[in-house]
Amino acid sequence: MLVRSLLTILAVVCCAGLAFAELPKAGATNPACKVQLANIEGMPFAPRFDISKEEVEKVASDSRKELDARLEEIVKIPAAKRTFDNTVKAFEAALSDFGDVTTLPIFMSYVSKDAAVRDAAAAFEEMASKYTVEIMTRRDLYNAINDFAQTKPQLTEEDQFLLDRIMLGFKRNGLMLSEADLAKYKELKQQLVATELKFEKNIRDWKDQLEVTKEELEGLPEDFVAGLATTTVGKFVVTLNYPDYFPMMDNAKNDDVRRRLESKFNNRCADTNVQLLEEGLQLRQQLAELLGYKNHAEYQLDDRMAKKPETVIEFLDRLHGKLLPKAKAELKDRLALRVKEAGIRTTEPMMGWQWRYWNNQYSKTVLDIDKEAMKQYFPLETVMNGMLAIYSEVFDVVMEKAKLPVWHEEVMPYVVKEKNGEVIGYLYIDLFPRDGKYKHQACFGLVGGRELPGGVYQKPACAIVGNFNRPAAGQPSLLTHDDVETMFHEFGHVTHNIFTKARYGMFSGTAVARDFVEVPSTILENWAWNKDVLKRISGHWKNPSEKLPDAMIDRLIKSRTFDSGLVNVRQIFLTKFDMACHTTDLKNTTITYGKLQQKIMLMPKSVGTHPQASFGHLMGGYDAGYYGYLWARAISADIFTEFEKNGVFDGTTGKKYRDLILAPGRTADQNVQVQAFLGRSFNEDALLRQFGLTADTK
Ligand SMILES: [Zn+2]
Repeated sequence: MLVRSLLTILAVVCCAGLAFAELPKAGATNPACKVQLANIEGMPFAPRFDISKEEVEKVASDSRKELDARLEEIVKIPAAKRTFDNTVKAFEAALSDFGDVTTLPIFMSYVSKDAAVRDAAAAFEEMASKYTVEIMTRRDLYNAINDFAQTKPQLTEEDQFLLDRIMLGFKRNGLMLSEADLAKYKELKQQLVATELKFEKNIRDWKDQLEVTKEELEGLPEDFVAGLATTTVGKFVVTLNYPDYFPMMDNAKNDDVRRRLESKFNNRCADTNVQLLEEGLQLRQQLAELLGYKNHAEYQLDDRMAKKPETVIEFLDRLHGKLLPKAKAELKDRLALRVKEAGIRTTEPMMGWQWRYWNNQYSKTVLDIDKEAMKQYFPLETVMNGMLAIYSEVFDVVMEKAKLPVWHEEVMPYVVKEKNGEVIGYLYIDLFPRDGKYKHQACFGLVGGRELPGGVYQKPACAIVGNFNRPAAGQPSLLTHDDVETMFHEFGHVTHNIFTKARYGMFSGTAVARDFVEVPSTILENWAWNKDVLKRISGHWKNPSEKLPDAMIDRLIKSRTFDSGLVNVRQIFLTKFDMACHTTDLKNTTITYGKLQQKIMLMPKSVGTHPQASFGHLMGGYDAGYYGYLWARAISADIFTEFEKNGVFDGTTGKKYRDLILAPGRTADQNVQVQAFLGRSFNEDALLRQFGLTADTK
């Protein structure tokens, strides 16, 4: 469930200078246009995907040369002659054009049928990422932009925001430092990157397993047991990979087997990664101090909505305080079941190897959800058509299948239009796994919406790339409710891409503050839990008029909150650990982890374990950023209250949401956008209601 932006600085595609009325006719070419366009009449800016290995390589070489030349032009301008247009706007445009010409060739590495194209595109992506990072560490470019910034120009709010973001980007790369400090900064940064990569590689390479007897697998489904490898002495091999680990923790009746497995799982990489983590934290602290920040969290949050660590901590504490009674009540129920079924006294705490199992057992007593039966009502095509119809209504647009070039015959292309027929953008849906294709679910931005010279607006395009089950013999592809929710989630990223009206590529679509990216996606998940929506998007594959039965819907909706207390105090605990790592001088991560787990999650850490050694987020890009999950959910739940009030199909609310939240991209501070939509700052009350807290329990 993530959004892929192919280049971290910008990911947009450009076609310069065409007036709308002068769109190219089919087959026409336009030398001013950098993007790989299909040039189809009536489909302005629709891309083509027949990109060969040779073309990828040519773009890789030419695009870099062109960007180098344009950046040189900017650097050469004498200080006295600098203007916003020839310096700041020219810099943004040069980078946007580079994003424009490179995005589709790079996208090929994720979806092309041809392995040679994929390899060339992957090599190009690596080169392009390094190259764009280098740009933001160039002293001459920083000087050029800074010379202009120092003139204290009178700019529009939007242009000033652009200048501020670019300057902040340079600051975050150390360019405001003296040469000596910059050298130190680069050295520390290299050490940090090497430490992070080692930490992640250790997790990827870690191999361990538990060998168990048939009896010790009691409680596991037969097909799970049948899928396990066996040893020469007839034992069954359970690995620490998720598809083995979680079913075991959820279902294995034998308490000691779960204990042994959890111990191995939470000691992955303990011998190397505890030290690497603690070294990494020290390096981050030193880097932050060099740049003038109190700690790494302050450095990370400077470019985000939350802005200050204190804001995050207060948010977490409020949430925890309100959620705690529900978490405690849930724990009590699970402990009571443990006494009844296993005779373990309630004075014994719930341990790390027990809570998922007893939570799962408890769910069976109250929920009774038959996932297989439910799938029969969610044939993929019915769900997708239902979803597109709903959002056509909510956003007051037309989404229709279109004849457009695609990268694989299974891809379904759509054109999104205003009711008056004006094209808004393009959506491509690529749902089934195949060899060499990207393995997860994601939304890829393909063409960024952006104002071109002359004022023409470039039409955005994006793709949902998924890995849903292929149709089995005699039946269509059937989705679980999790799949349905994923589909709505990814479609939320689509709306962010498609409905953008941002003028600058740098602010377009999903190029927003990091802690806001998941707001549009998590908002749309709410539709997947609404009774009227579920009726509209379901239909038994044997008899499409037979909708998901009321009783199933009611049980499903109940399941959303039955363990929200324990699940979310765990999230809060992990987030607080992340913040503690990056706001305090932590000497011993093992002790802090244990203390926080006990205090916040109400369960002790298992003796001798080191779960932080395999907490990949901490060293893999979510450092001082794990809070973003709950933060974005709080905002999206709050925004969704407007739809709850006015109806989930209400076009007026949809239009307001489209105009105030989706259209601006990052044109202004995200807090301001949310405030404009809600008429106040967001708070966590709606999220708590979504977690099942009522006025009485809050
Ligand atoms: Zn996402």
